[in-house]
Amino acid sequence: PTQSYDDQNIFAKILRGEIPSRTVFENEHALAFHDIAPQAPYHVLVIPKGAYVSWDDFSARAEDAEIAGFVRAVGEVARAAGLVEPGYRLLANVGHDGHQEVPHLHVHIFAGRALGPMLA
Ligand code: 5GP
Repeated sequence: PTQSYDDQNIFAKILRGEIPSRTVFENEHALAFHDIAPQAPYHVLVIPKGAYVSWDDFSARAEDAEIAGFVRAVGEVARAAGLVEPGYRLLANVGHDGHQEVPHLHVHIFAGRALGPMLA
């Protein structure tokens, strides 16, 4: 069964405005903000506004409009930051072996240098 959503997770607190973040984009279904410990010159996280633990949870339960709003937000953040021509990387960690640390779905956007074949 899917892990139940913990509404005390750090990204839930960011969504509620209880802790600050450096927001770069917001739409009805998504919020994007800078990662607090960037692993590339550009490192932004995009999260759905709904309460979804992971990509697995989101892809199974979210409404089509939420999925569209989230997917479009990721593309829009990258376009607005001028990342399309140089290129960028998307990453979503899922679960224990995926090394997901925060139990609210987030897609990482890495850019700003040639990233090589993989981030360990
Ligand atoms: P994960 O390993 O779950 O895919 O990535 C979690 C990410 O969240 C990490 O890159 C970490 O630096 C970032 N992070 C953790 N806590 C905070 C926070 O309070 N604010 C922001 N902006 N990023 C955070």
